[in-house]
Amino acid sequence: MNWRIPLADLDFGAEEAAAAARVIESKWLTMGAVTQQFEALFAEFTGAKHAVAVTNGTAGLHLACLAAGIQPGDEVIVPSLTFVATAAAILYTGGTPIFVDICGETDLTLSPEAVEAAITPKTRAVMLMHYGGYACDMPRIREVARRHNLVVIEDAAHAAGSFFEGHHLGTAGLVGSFSFFSNKNLATGEGGMLVTNDDDTAAKLRLLRSHGMTSLTWDRHQGHAWSYDVVDLGYNYRIDEIRSALGIEQLKKLPAANARRQELTALYRSRLKRNAPGIVIPFESQRGTSASHILPIILPKGVNRSRFMESMKAEGIQTSIHYPPIHLFDFYRQKTGGNFALPITEDIAAREVTLPLYPGMSAADVDLVTDTACSALADQGVVNG
Ligand SMILES: *Cc1c(COP(=O)(O)O)cnc(C)c1O
Repeated sequence: MNWRIPLADLDFGAEEAAAAARVIESKWLTMGAVTQQFEALFAEFTGAKHAVAVTNGTAGLHLACLAAGIQPGDEVIVPSLTFVATAAAILYTGGTPIFVDICGETDLTLSPEAVEAAITPKTRAVMLMHYGGYACDMPRIREVARRHNLVVIEDAAHAAGSFFEGHHLGTAGLVGSFSFFSNKNLATGEGGMLVTNDDDTAAKLRLLRSHGMTSLTWDRHQGHAWSYDVVDLGYNYRIDEIRSALGIEQLKKLPAANARRQELTALYRSRLKRNAPGIVIPFESQRGTSASHILPIILPKGVNRSRFMESMKAEGIQTSIHYPPIHLFDFYRQKTGGNFALPITEDIAAREVTLPLYPGMSAADVDLVTDTACSALADQGVVNG
């Protein structure tokens, strides 16, 4: 489709093209010096002691679960209102995802009370997700985790450039995992980054990223090593130099791009509040500063969501849903027995619509989206204040 306003749009330009061209000219494509530089810059930006680049966010979550020592029989508490990869990573290790509810329509992150209520003697870890880049209730989740001796893993796929209590999101638990998929705030096409402050965990992540081998092709090219040993069952979860070069350029743009997303989010709030008071825009009171990755709205009860999204589409405006809850997917129902009671997740997920948000949007674009949304509601007989 040729959207008038797409859901997301890349913030790419001549800098990314030149950076990719420099790698091609260098004739070194697989993980090497550019990746090391990207890792160092990402560690500096997030304040993490270590940053480990990976092939995508899903691979990153898998490595995070392995580093946390998740094994068959272990239970990992996870929200259902997230991308399926968050839960799939737990299953890769043989662990069991235990889905818990979110806080409510103004806070779509996992509920600390629900986490505590789901703990059993088999619980090993909490895998949380900072929805839209908005911080989970970290003080309470960490307190629960500390009391029950649980590892905290952060799916920070939405949270590049999100800060809370002076810390970058993803750095409060054992491992934080970022995604650089095309539509994320920092995009490299495919790509991801893990952050940790723990030296042993960083060493394990690096080892498992590349076949469990004790030296890299890059080290041998540098003349640092002739051979290697294999000391664990590893994977090929490496990133490559072209993507790392794109990531370095995107990281430079991230603070300004996120600031623009925050401005646009504030504009959406004021327009919708004035013209469509029935719509709830979550995270009005946010914790810290969000990367404002997406713009979720919750439609009033009784509105037909498909019809609303069709009305938007008819005007050339792309919308989406974040997310169809994982516990309701066919595979996950079969795998987990399907007996999770998540009334808030099910109610919110059925009414959520994600509106376009990207740094290149103008105020006029926001007006067009919000005006169209208001008419779409009016078409369904929802009268606005
Ligand atoms: C994008 C995303 C992932 C997966 O990242 P990939 O890089 O696409 O593998 C995981 N979790 C969440 C919440 C995401 O949005």
